[in-house]
Amino acid sequence: MRRLSADFIFTGKNILRKGIIEVDKNGTIISVTDTKGKLDEQQSLEFYNGILVPGFINTHCHLELSHMKGMIKNDTGRGLPGFIDEIISKRNFPENLQEKINKADKEMQMKGIVAAGDISNTDDSFIVKKKSKIYYQTFVESFTVSNEKAEENFKQAEDNYRKLKNMHLPASIVPHAAYSVPDKLYRMISDFESGKKRIISVHNQETSDEDLLIQSKKGALANVLADKGFFLDDFSYPGSTALEVNLHYLNKNDNILLIHNTFSKEKDIKTAENFSENIFWVFCPLSNLYIEKKLPNIPLFFKKSVKTCIGTDSYASNTELSVLSELKAITENFPEISFEKLIESATLNGAKALQIDRRYGSIEKGKTPGINLITSFDSIKMTLKPESKIKVLV
Ligand SMILES: [Zn+2]
Repeated sequence: MRRLSADFIFTGKNILRKGIIEVDKNGTIISVTDTKGKLDEQQSLEFYNGILVPGFINTHCHLELSHMKGMIKNDTGRGLPGFIDEIISKRNFPENLQEKINKADKEMQMKGIVAAGDISNTDDSFIVKKKSKIYYQTFVESFTVSNEKAEENFKQAEDNYRKLKNMHLPASIVPHAAYSVPDKLYRMISDFESGKKRIISVHNQETSDEDLLIQSKKGALANVLADKGFFLDDFSYPGSTALEVNLHYLNKNDNILLIHNTFSKEKDIKTAENFSENIFWVFCPLSNLYIEKKLPNIPLFFKKSVKTCIGTDSYASNTELSVLSELKAITENFPEISFEKLIESATLNGAKALQIDRRYGSIEKGKTPGINLITSFDSIKMTLKPESKIKVLV
């Protein structure tokens, strides 16, 4: 058994000054003691300078794109349409892909990530996930160019879903985005195991042209899709925004993770929250800055007290897979968002989104959340500094 203490502990619910965490060799929390800042000299106590927080939950990544670091140019000013154009033409499957995926998984562990929601279009990442210490919820992602291709595409997703189930890995079949899933395919995804409380993830309002496409089938995104063989007549887009189209097909009983939301407005937040209590707004700020050079109105979501989560996205649009770096980017751009709210997004909210909050997300008796130490923490302003670093303790 280990006994850990630090200047501060954020349990996921409150901040303790010089509290003590007892943890057994399996990482299970035995007890959490609030010393109210009065820590007497205690034997066998590990004391750290900084703040202890629960293990991070990365609610959006694509492990299988781990070999694409730096492959997609981000200086063309074309935003997401340009990114899609490039990723479709440049995506390849090199011989060392497994090695790259393995390295990315290890990197996430080093950065204090204990669980992840990971998108898969192929089965390339499954073996790494099976062996990893990270808990993975795999989102088997589906999209295609036309209704005619829907069955073939869905069957491929179902095959991958079955492979994961046979490996005892948690999985769900999910749509890629409102603009890339034709009616027939979206209905097949919606109907699949619809009696269960599923976890669904969908890329949402990542570019301004997404809503424009939904409304008029015009704009740069429409042009790129048409160019890539998408038969836009098969997309009826029932709604006036990408969000409305997604909600039209999705089931309000499922956990719905809306990814990016870079162009979501106040009325979109209202629409989604009115639709369901199980909406999770996932932000991947470094990917947004890479692709669109624009951040979502993140403070607005915090002001509305909706459930916010953090994702790293992939190496195709990021230079590292670190939840802490995402949090630092948010702090730098929106210092008004409190540290506690950010950590809650990166831990407990993510655990709820992935339905694993019985084990992860907060430092509480009986849970095995993982424990990270954040050093170079600004303990006067209670905020992250650009030089803040992470060390995995448990
Ligand atoms: Zn993504």
